[in-house]
Amino acid sequence: MEKEKLYTYAWQKFGAVSQCVVTMEECAELTKELSKAIRGESNGLKIAEEVADVEIMLEQVKQNFAIQTLVAGFKRDKIKRLEKRLINSRKQVTNDNNN
Ligand SMILES: [Mg+2]
Repeated sequence: MEKEKLYTYAWQKFGAVSQCVVTMEECAELTKELSKAIRGESNGLKIAEEVADVEIMLEQVKQNFAIQTLVAGFKRDKIKRLEKRLINSRKQVTNDNNN
């Protein structure tokens, strides 16, 4: 079964409320694993598993709310903003070192 049909079936079968709750739970599980990594646990495999879970749920959220194009636009803008911030930060460091 192709992914989009599988996601549609899942939202029909389990309902939007349940799928939203699962999305929140998967985000929480990833949060927990990242927190463990900060505290020194070697858990790359668990982080990878939780990232996969979150990505699967985010794909479903985007499809269900039909926001794929909006998300892509926000991502493009925010990545550009991050790039500008990093470039400006590098310029600031260079200026500080020259003064
Ligand atoms: Mg999980």
